Amino acid sequence: MNKKIIGIISAVAALLLGLLGFEVSHELIGYDLPWDEPSETSAASNSPPPSHIAGSLISHYIDVGQGDSEFIELPDGKTLLIDAGTREGGEAVISYIKSLGYSSIDYVVGTHPHSDHIGGLADVIKEFDIGQIYMPNAVNTSKTYEYLLNTISNKKKKVKTAKAGVKITSSDELSYTVDIIAPISKEYESLNNYSAVIKIRYKNRSFLYMGDAETLVEKELSNKKTDLSADVVKVGHHGSSSSSSDSFVKSTGAKYAVFSLGKDNDYGHPHAPIVKRWQKYKAELYRTDECGTITIYSDGDSLNVHLEKENAALPKAA
Ligand SMILES: [Zn+2]
Repeated sequence: MNKKIIGIISAVAALLLGLLGFEVSHELIGYDLPWDEPSETSAASNSPPPSHIAGSLISHYIDVGQGDSEFIELPDGKTLLIDAGTREGGEAVISYIKSLGYSSIDYVVGTHPHSDHIGGLADVIKEFDIGQIYMPNAVNTSKTYEYLLNTISNKKKKVKTAKAGVKITSSDELSYTVDIIAPISKEYESLNNYSAVIKIRYKNRSFLYMGDAETLVEKELSNKKTDLSADVVKVGHHGSSSSSSDSFVKSTGAKYAVFSLGKDNDYGHPHAPIVKRWQKYKAELYRTDECGTITIYSDGDSLNVHLEKENAALPKAA
């Protein structure tokens, strides 16, 4: 009798392990991986995806709930953090970057002074050795923003102004550039439009990070004839209808559109027409509320997608 029960328990355990192995395997979208597949039993479901791959650009869209945070490993090993979610989300950002094995961040960008973007930044800046910090010239009197500015000055760091035309870094040898392409105007009514918009190009691939920039900025970019083509776009303002105008979405020609947002958020993000619009132009959608942290790899030609929650791999129709 006891042997029979042990047998059943073993079978159930084996089945569960099998399922776990399935959940943590890589999601591939039509390209070969530049690294070995991990064995099915070696990875835990919360283990970080592969990182530190020489010659690869790795863009992590960290699941911070309702908010934004992207951590980018550049092809020469330098690192860039764009936003750090809310104050609570900051903890997730810190532990995620540490889990990748980093104790320093070369470039930090606070896209604009809203708490779902810069809320976690102060704690990140306290925790890591930080190189250069960029923020737009926008005024905000919130406690969260004051805390961030105090943290920066306590650490004896200075803030460089994030605005169109600023080059964060580049390498001729490795053929990559990291440019700030907005804000373009000196003043906006909406704080969202002060968002530092960043474009990273690596050989034949481009990544665009829109912050919370709205259609007004999309129009400014288009009027300025800024090259908006990008294989991967971090969709503006969490998929709100304030952003992603039809002409903008079309001009990116995006293969992948990443939505950073929290499940059942108060704003109804992403707005259904925006989801449909990205789909209309044939982008594959990935949402942090469904996929967890999303990681996209490129060697300058290939693009590979890794999802924290494998079961969410297939984009849902709007
Ligand atoms: Zn936001």
